[in-house]
Amino acid sequence: MENCAVCGIESKQKCSGCNLVFYCSRDHQVADWKNGHKTNCKCYDISSNNILGRYMVAKRDIKPGEIILREKPIVIGPKTISNVMCLGCHQLLNVNYYKCSKCTWPLCGKSCETSEYHVDECKLMSSKNFKSSIKEVGKLESSYCVIVPLRVIFMRKNQPKMYQQFSKLVSHIDRRISTKLYDVLRANLVPFILNFLQIPDLTENEILEIAGILDTNCFEVLLTSKKVKARGIYYETAMMAHECIPNTKHFVDENYEMKVFATQMIKKGEMILTSYSHPLKTTLERRLAINLAKCFDCVCPRCIDATEKNTFSSSIKCSTCKDGVLTSCDPLTNLSEWQCIKCEHKVSGAKIIQLTSEIRKSLDHLNKRSVVECENFIKSYKKFLPDSSVFMMDVKYALCMLYGNVDGYFFRDLSPDQIQRKLDLCNQLLSELSILEPGISNSFLNTKFELNVAEILKIKSQFKPNNETSKLIEIHMERITETYNLLRVASDGKALIDNRYKKIKEESSL
Ligand SMILES: [Zn+2]
Ligand SMILES: [Zn+2]
Ligand SMILES: [Zn+2]
Ligand SMILES: [Zn+2]
Ligand SMILES: [Zn+2]
Ligand SMILES: [Zn+2]
Repeated sequence: MENCAVCGIESKQKCSGCNLVFYCSRDHQVADWKNGHKTNCKCYDISSNNILGRYMVAKRDIKPGEIILREKPIVIGPKTISNVMCLGCHQLLNVNYYKCSKCTWPLCGKSCETSEYHVDECKLMSSKNFKSSIKEVGKLESSYCVIVPLRVIFMRKNQPKMYQQFSKLVSHIDRRISTKLYDVLRANLVPFILNFLQIPDLTENEILEIAGILDTNCFEVLLTSKKVKARGIYYETAMMAHECIPNTKHFVDENYEMKVFATQMIKKGEMILTSYSHPLKTTLERRLAINLAKCFDCVCPRCIDATEKNTFSSSIKCSTCKDGVLTSCDPLTNLSEWQCIKCEHKVSGAKIIQLTSEIRKSLDHLNKRSVVECENFIKSYKKFLPDSSVFMMDVKYALCMLYGNVDGYFFRDLSPDQIQRKLDLCNQLLSELSILEPGISNSFLNTKFELNVAEILKIKSQFKPNNETSKLIEIHMERITETYNLLRVASDGKALIDNRYKKIKEESSL
C-alpha cells in the first residue's frame, strides 16, 4: 500500500507503465498523466559520465521479457547505400516500380507521391528539376545517401525542438572526418545540398555533423513485410550504452515503432544495455566492427577479459604443448602478443589475426545447410580451435538446428549416434550461450528447444513406451512449451517456430 500520487490517500493500484507510482482511482491516474506523468512514466533514468556519455539506468527491478520502452523514430529513411526502395512507404521495389511524376525517385505507386515522408523532399527536388539516376533494381544504390540527411534538414526547419534534441546526439565527427566515406560525402552530399538544392543557412560542417550523428546513432530497421532494411533515429533507444553481452533486445514493427525489452533480470541501479556486435565474433572482430561503425573502443567486461568470462571463445589451441589455449596478453591492444595458459608459449598478435581471419573467411563460405560440410569444418579446424571457440560454436549451432530438421536428417532418419551428437552439441552450446547470450535470446532458446527435442528422441529410440517413459517425455514436452513461449517473446510474437513446435508436439505423442 502506498499513497495516491494525486490526493495522497492509501492506494493499491500501481501505474502499469513504470510500476513506480500509485493511484486511488482511474480519474486520478488520468489527471496525473495529463499533469506530467506522461513524460516521467519510465522504468529508467538517463545518467551520464565522461566515458560513456549518456546512458540508461534501471529505476526499479525490470523482469526478463518486460517492455522497457516504445517509441517512434524522429527520422527514418533509406540506408546510406540501399536497395531500390519506395521513399513513401519504404518497401523494396521490383522492376515494375513507379517513377514519381514530380521528382523521378522510384516509388511503389502514385499514392506514395504524397506520403508524409516524401512530400517535402519531393517538392524541393522537383523545383530544382532533379532527375534520379536510378535505372534498375537489384543493385545497391548510393544516391540514397542524401535522403535521411535531407529529412533531418527539413526537421531543422519544421520541427526545431526535435532538431535541437537531434543535434545533442554525438557525431564523432572529429574521427569520421578523415575516413574515406566522409571524403565521398564531402564530394557528393555537401554540394548536392548546398549547390544543387541551394538550401540556405547551412554550412559544410553542419551537413557533415548531421551525417556523423546519423552514422553514430541510427538503428538499422529491418522491415520484414517491406523486405528491406532502413535506418532511423530512435532518440530514447539511442541512450542505451553498449556492452558485448547486453541485457535487452529490440524490434521495430511495421509502423516503425521501436520496442525494447529486457532479456534478463535488470536490477534497480544497473545499466540498461544494448549490443552493436554479434556474440559469436572474436574480441578482435567485435572491437574492430564497433570502432568502424560507432567510433569507440569497447571496454566492456567481456572485451577486457582475455578469457571472456572463462569461455575462451576467442582462443586458439597451443601448437607447442597441444593441451593449453592461447589468450591475448592485452585484449585491448589489437597487436598484443598471445600466450598459452599452460606452457606460456608466445605467439605474435599478427599471426593470430592472420589465422583468425583465414578461419572467418572459410566459415563465411561454409554451406550451413549441409550437415556433412559443417561436420567437416569441425573436423578440419579441431587442431586450431578449442571446442568453445566462437567459430566452432557458430557451426555447432547450425548443426544443432540441422539434425532433425532437414532432408536426410529428419527424426525418423537419425541413428542413435546422431541423436547423441545432437544432444552433445546442444549441451556444449548451452553452457557457453548461457554466458555470452543469456536470457531471452533466440540462439539460447532455440538450442534449449532442440535439446529437449533430442532428449525425447533419445527416450523413444532407447526404450519401449511405458508409464515411466511417457512421464519423462511429458517433462521434456513441458520444457519445450515453456521455451516456445519465451521464443515468441524473443521474436516479438512472430510465428517463426510455430511449425516446428506443432511438429514436435505431434511426433512426441506418437
Ligand atoms: Zn487519489
Ligand atoms: Zn507510470
Ligand atoms: Zn510506397
Ligand atoms: Zn517525388
Ligand atoms: Zn565489448
Ligand atoms: Zn602451450
